[in-house]
Amino acid sequence: MRAPERVRNWIDGAWSDPRDGRALPVVEPATGIAFTELARSGAPDVESAHAAAHGAFPAWASRPATERAEMLDRLASLVERDLERLAWLESVDTGKPLSLARAVDIPRAAANLRFFAESVRTWEPDRELSAPHCASRVIRRPVGVAGCISPWNLPLYLFTWKVAPALAAGCTVVAKPSEETPLTAAALAELSGEAGFPRGVLNVVHGLGAECGAAIVAHPGIPVISFTGGTSTGERIMSVAGPMFKTTAMELGGKNPTIVFADADFDAAVDGALNAAFRNQGQICLCGSRILVDRAAYARFRDAFVARAAALRVGDPLEPSTEQGSLVSQAHRAKVAAAVERARSEGGRVLCGGRAPSPDELPGRVRGGAFWMPTVIEGLPMGCATNQEEIFGPVVTLQPFDGEDDAVAQANDSAYGLAASVWTADRARAMRVAERLECGIVWINAWMLRDLRVPFGGAKRSGLGREGGEDALRLFTEPKSISWPA
Ligand code: NAD
Repeated sequence: MRAPERVRNWIDGAWSDPRDGRALPVVEPATGIAFTELARSGAPDVESAHAAAHGAFPAWASRPATERAEMLDRLASLVERDLERLAWLESVDTGKPLSLARAVDIPRAAANLRFFAESVRTWEPDRELSAPHCASRVIRRPVGVAGCISPWNLPLYLFTWKVAPALAAGCTVVAKPSEETPLTAAALAELSGEAGFPRGVLNVVHGLGAECGAAIVAHPGIPVISFTGGTSTGERIMSVAGPMFKTTAMELGGKNPTIVFADADFDAAVDGALNAAFRNQGQICLCGSRILVDRAAYARFRDAFVARAAALRVGDPLEPSTEQGSLVSQAHRAKVAAAVERARSEGGRVLCGGRAPSPDELPGRVRGGAFWMPTVIEGLPMGCATNQEEIFGPVVTLQPFDGEDDAVAQANDSAYGLAASVWTADRARAMRVAERLECGIVWINAWMLRDLRVPFGGAKRSGLGREGGEDALRLFTEPKSISWPA
C-alpha cells in the first residue's frame, strides 16, 4: 500500500493546493521518516472552502433528512469497502498498531456515519406547545457552515464524530484534521465525492492550527465550531469564538481516574485498568491515567498490573503481534520523557518502563521511531504536577485509598473532569460513587463502553457542551420559537 504523494485540500468537490503553494512534511512516527507532504493552508484557502460551503448550504439544508442520511450511509459503505487501506493509512500516520486501526478506528468511523444517518431519520426536531393564552411552534434548522477541528489521536474516528452529525443536521462543513495525521480525513473527502455528496457540502482544509485552524475559528461566516483537542488550544479558540457569540462544543483534555475497590472482580479490574491505561499508547482523552486502588487490594493489584504492563509487546505497528505502537511524534515523546523525569524528581518510584526502548529491543524498520515503554509510577501525592497535568502517553500512576470518601476525594482532586471508571461488585456503591464524581462520563466495571446515543463530553477543564446522539444534532441546529394568541 502507498500513501498519496501529496495531501491536498478538498474544496468544492475537487482537490486543490493552497494559494501560496506552501507544504509541510508528514512523518511516519514509527520510523521518523517523512513519507508525504501536506498542504499548508491559510486564511485565503479557508475563505475558498467557506465560499464553497456557503454556496452549497441552501440546497443541502433543504433536502429531506432521509436523503442526507442515505448519502451518509453510502459514505459508510465506502469506508467499510476501503477498511484495509484506511487502517493502513491510519497506522502509518499515527504509529498506532494496524490491528487497532483495523478493529477500532475505521469500523468506528463507519459506525459514526451510520449512527448519525439513522439518528436524523428518526429525529423530530420540531414541536408544538399550547398554553391557555398562547400556542407555539418550536422549530430547529441547521445553522449554516460548521467548522470542525479534530486532533491526531483517533483521526478518522473523531473527524467523523463531528462531520457526520453536522452533515446529517443539514449544515455544510469546513473541516480541519490534525496536521500530524491528515491522511484518512483526506481519503474520506475523496470518498464523499464517490458517495455522491454535492460539491461544497464537505470541504477539508489542511494545515497548522495557528494558521488554518485559527482562520476557521475567526471566520465570521462560520457560526458553529466543534473542536476536539487540548485544553490550552480550547482556551485560545474560546477567546476568539466567545466574543463572536459562536456556538461551540469543546472536547478537551482529561486526567481520568480508574477506581478499583477491593471487592472488584480482580482479573477484570486488572484487565480493564490496563486497557484504559495503555490503549493507543495512552493517547486517548478517556485513558485512565490515575489508578486509585483500595488499600486492602493495593499490593496485589500493583504487582499484577505492573507484570502485565511490562509484558506488553512494543514494536512495529504493522506487525500483527504488536500491542504498543509508536507515539505520534518525536516531539510528543520528548514531552512524555520530560513528564517522567518530573515524576522522578517529585519522588515517584518508576515500577516499570520509564524509558524509550533501546534500539536492539526494536525491529530494524522502526529503530528511529518515537516509542516509549509502558510506564507505571507509585508513591506520588495527588496534588503533584504528575497527577494533575495531562501526559497523554503510556504513563500512569498508582495510589492507594482508604474507603469510599477518600476514593471520591482523590478522584475529584483534578482540574479536569472528563471520564472515570469504577470497579466494584457492589452495584449500589458504584452508583453512589458515580453520582459523586465530577465528570461527564462514568463507566462501571468497564472502560470506553459506548452507546452512541448518550451525551459525550466533560466537566471542568475537560470541556463545554456535549456531542453524541441528539446533543450533536442540537449543536448544529438553531431553535426558533413562533407563538400566537390561542
Ligand atoms: P491540539 O489542541 O494541539 O490540536 C487539535 C486540533 O486543533 C488540531 O487540528 C490543531 O491543528 C488545531 N489547532 C491548534 N491550535 C489551534 C488554534 N489556535 N485554532 C484553531 N485550531 C487549532 O490537540 P492534539 O495534540 O491534536 O490532541 C491531543 C489533545 O486532545 C489532548 O489534550 C487530548 O486529551 C485531547 N482530546 C480530547 C478528546 C475529547 O473528546 N475530550 C478526544 C481526543 C483528544
